[in-house]
Amino acid sequence: MTARTVALVAHDHKKAELLQWVKQHRALLAPFNLVATGTTGKLISDETGLTVHRYKSGPLGGDQQIGALIAENKLDALFFFWDPLNPAPHDPDVKALLRLCSVWNVPVACTPATADLVVTSPLFSDAGHQRLVPDYGK
Ligand code: PGA
Repeated sequence: MTARTVALVAHDHKKAELLQWVKQHRALLAPFNLVATGTTGKLISDETGLTVHRYKSGPLGGDQQIGALIAENKLDALFFFWDPLNPAPHDPDVKALLRLCSVWNVPVACTPATADLVVTSPLFSDAGHQRLVPDYGK
């Protein structure tokens, strides 16, 4: 069975928090194909040794690349520590990424508390678990 794919994204003021969270849950995350926006991915791979496929930096299109994975049903979960206190130049992309998670029923965790619950769920580590992908063709 092909390993499932998990995306990790953190805005600048949230990167330390995401890094700490990844270190805490390293063993649960390691079996997945990990992808990330550019700067987040470099930080995580440098600091944890995990293999992380890096897309472009968020403001340069990385959020949209991860959104494309969702649209193609190639993403199984998103851990997105976005910053609610500072404006981002790519705010429309941030909103679009969160929107696509809802469109395609992709689990998305935006806070460490939610991320803890998702990553420790038995369903998360169950390779046989299939989330319901909406059928908009009907
Ligand atoms: P970054 O992008 O990982 O390249 O900093 C994250 C974002 O701002 O969406």
